[in-house]
Amino acid sequence: MGKTVKIFEIRTTNHRQMVDITAKVENAITDIEEGLCHVHIPHTTAAVIINENADPDVQRDLLAAYETLIPNIRFKHTEGNSDAHLISTLLGPSLAIPVVGGRLKLGTWQGIFFVELDGPRSRKVWVSTIVGS
Ligand code: ZN
Repeated sequence: MGKTVKIFEIRTTNHRQMVDITAKVENAITDIEEGLCHVHIPHTTAAVIINENADPDVQRDLLAAYETLIPNIRFKHTEGNSDAHLISTLLGPSLAIPVVGGRLKLGTWQGIFFVELDGPRSRKVWVSTIVGS
């Protein structure tokens, strides 16, 4: 991996949890003024999403709603965390966000969240940028 990917670590503290990583992502994009910021996590039992960062109840509601998506089937995976793998695939491991004037171009109520689905664990976030013309 080259110098163009910046990596930061977060330590989650709960089994399921949302961590607002907006400021950490923004701190990692100091090298460009205009372009695209790409956020990727190298994990299969977590996800990254963009959603409301004003009312923390939204995060709690989403986490509760994800639980209802887990089907009542017999998972074969012996690690016992197929529920986390499932939600991870539904939410996704990466995001692309426009960068304007050296800052993330997010909506007023938007924040970037790391979604822990099988914590607590130490996790990594990879941030890369594509310079616009
Ligand atoms: Zn597993």
